[in-house]
Amino acid sequence: MSLFSTTQVSCPHCGETTSIEEVGSLNADRRPDLRQQILDDTFQTAACSHCGESFRLEPDFNYMDAGRGQWIACYPGPRILDHLEAADEMGAVFENNFGPGAGKAAHELGQSLTGRVVFGWPAMREKLLAHDLAIDDVALELLKLDILRELPEIPLGTGTELRLVEAQGQDLTLAWFGPGVPDAERVMDVELARYQDIVAHIDEWKDVADELRDSPFVDMQKLYMGPGREAAA
Ligand SMILES: [Zn+2]
Repeated sequence: MSLFSTTQVSCPHCGETTSIEEVGSLNADRRPDLRQQILDDTFQTAACSHCGESFRLEPDFNYMDAGRGQWIACYPGPRILDHLEAADEMGAVFENNFGPGAGKAAHELGQSLTGRVVFGWPAMREKLLAHDLAIDDVALELLKLDILRELPEIPLGTGTELRLVEAQGQDLTLAWFGPGVPDAERVMDVELARYQDIVAHIDEWKDVADELRDSPFVDMQKLYMGPGREAAA
């Protein structure tokens, strides 16, 4: 079931309070149109009832797609700073819904689902697109790390993220989101073969791949964000 609730928000354009139907959980099996809206970058966009300008809510919902085996906790972009806590929270929700205590049918369903945590719309859209393209998200993050070796001038930091945005023929298109990246360098094409080469030699990436897989937050950004769980404990 997809759940929405009416929320009062302050319009970022005029500052007046306006109401919007905010999603709390989305079932893509029943509402493929909403999944498509995420891919189209239109989901959770609303027009202000005062000034008419449109704006987009930060995401904060659970996403279920049993058909594709995806379950994603999608949090607001800024919450990436609490990614360890968010991953724990997602784990608890997942366990509650699909763990052994949830009943046989739910538990069986849970075993067919890959759980992920994402922050912000570009990361959410990327997980859906990667699935459509049969691209493994761990190998995709390794590809980004490989690309970054050649881009020492990109100011990496929280809120600066590299996302798969499109695929055409033998090319993948990646784009930078966030501050500090010059416009001329925001979009890049990468040969699909480079991704396939990483998949073919994934053993050579084992340590980093293990680090990416160690929580449902499969994102190279966590490798740049300290402190880790041990340091934080
Ligand atoms: Zn307004």
